[in-house]
Amino acid sequence: MSHEFYFKESSKVFPGGVNSPVRAFKQVEQPFPLFIKQGIGSFVIDVNDQKYLDFVGSWGPMIHGHAHPYILNKVKIAIENGLSFGAPTVAESELAFLIQKAFPSMEKMRFTSSGTEATMTAVRLARGVTQKPYIIKFIGCYHGHNDSLLVDCGSGVATFGQTTSDGILQACSTYTLTLPYNDPQSLKACFLEYQHQIAGVIVEAVAGNMGCIPGTVEFLSTIQHLCYQHKALFIVDEVMTGFRVALGGATELYGLQPDLITLGKIVGGGLPLAVVGGKKEYIAQLAPEGPIYHAGTLSGNPAAVHAGISTLELLFEKGFHQHLHEKTSFFCQAVSSGLKSKGLIHSVHYCTGMATFYALEHPPMNFHDVSYQSKNWFNFFFDQLLKEGLYWPPSLFESLFISAAHTEDQLRWAAESIVKAWDYAIQHNRNSDFQSKHGV
Ligand SMILES: *Cc1c(COP(=O)(O)O)cnc(C)c1O
Repeated sequence: MSHEFYFKESSKVFPGGVNSPVRAFKQVEQPFPLFIKQGIGSFVIDVNDQKYLDFVGSWGPMIHGHAHPYILNKVKIAIENGLSFGAPTVAESELAFLIQKAFPSMEKMRFTSSGTEATMTAVRLARGVTQKPYIIKFIGCYHGHNDSLLVDCGSGVATFGQTTSDGILQACSTYTLTLPYNDPQSLKACFLEYQHQIAGVIVEAVAGNMGCIPGTVEFLSTIQHLCYQHKALFIVDEVMTGFRVALGGATELYGLQPDLITLGKIVGGGLPLAVVGGKKEYIAQLAPEGPIYHAGTLSGNPAAVHAGISTLELLFEKGFHQHLHEKTSFFCQAVSSGLKSKGLIHSVHYCTGMATFYALEHPPMNFHDVSYQSKNWFNFFFDQLLKEGLYWPPSLFESLFISAAHTEDQLRWAAESIVKAWDYAIQHNRNSDFQSKHGV
């Protein structure tokens, strides 16, 4: 059966045929997405047995590659004892202590089932603890699809040209202030204007939802300082960066001292698990210890917890992040020098295991910069990459992910394919532009 057939079937039951928008390949104007049946190491295999080198990695969680035997085995052992109890298990604390080894500032934490739920709880905590209404977020950062945070987001939302979503009351977004990323001046001005009313600031310290854009040291330290000064909570959303850009995430990379941290993606090793944690006096405000409500039937689910434990155990191996960083750097430089040799304008941002290439001369520093890219060439580029056997993020606004399973040989081969596809896309785009202008 073809992808087209499966897509027709799935479109009967799911809006857009998918259960999360970016999967539909709509932004890259593909008629249907690929249906994946299997993952092995750095590869995914579709329903027609086509094999692709995977640069999506389930959008972040698969840092050890697909179907890692150690992780699968731990999960198998766990699930033989039952899938969910709705009661505490010993493994939950075991995972929490492992998380604390990487994130010492998470003195207490609460497990949830998705990143959206973790950031929702972080915002509720900030408002509940400070008794103040406003949350500041930055344009192009994505913190899940909560009503109060789905304002001026990157990735899926940006590519659909929506700054927000229908169905969200104006009253909800009224208390969300959005500011440009990497702009300490506008943040200072905002704190001056709303000084006693700001509950917290939430930020991706390395933004991964408008491509990969690192926060500047000045920007991040300004947030930290202003939050401290105005008794607002400093929330670092590490759902994407936690355990990836360093063992202790962007918090470790920049030496930040956040009040709250959210984790997701990698922490569940590919199963639904996320975390909100931080200073114990704040987290202790959550029910049943405190008055701020959070609950979840499947929170701390045993299968997810064991996937998390085994995923983290592998990350604690000496030199893991160093090695992944070297591989990422090697890959990005190979692509970059290939593009340069063909005179193709580009720039790149990368961190350990994540990167984005831009068709821009200077690496972008905020959403405004990113949105300058023309979209047309990217559709040709993406299409060509698929033909070459590369499963690439189907959007200009997404970061690509490299796992421990990607080998140097695979990355060298991929770099060559990328340069070829880029060159083809730029030329093809130029020709089709010419044709449409001249009515051919
Ligand atoms: C993916 C992501 C989320 C949302 O997590 P879900 O598990 O998809 O709900 C929140 N914040 C950031 C930074 C993310 O990358």
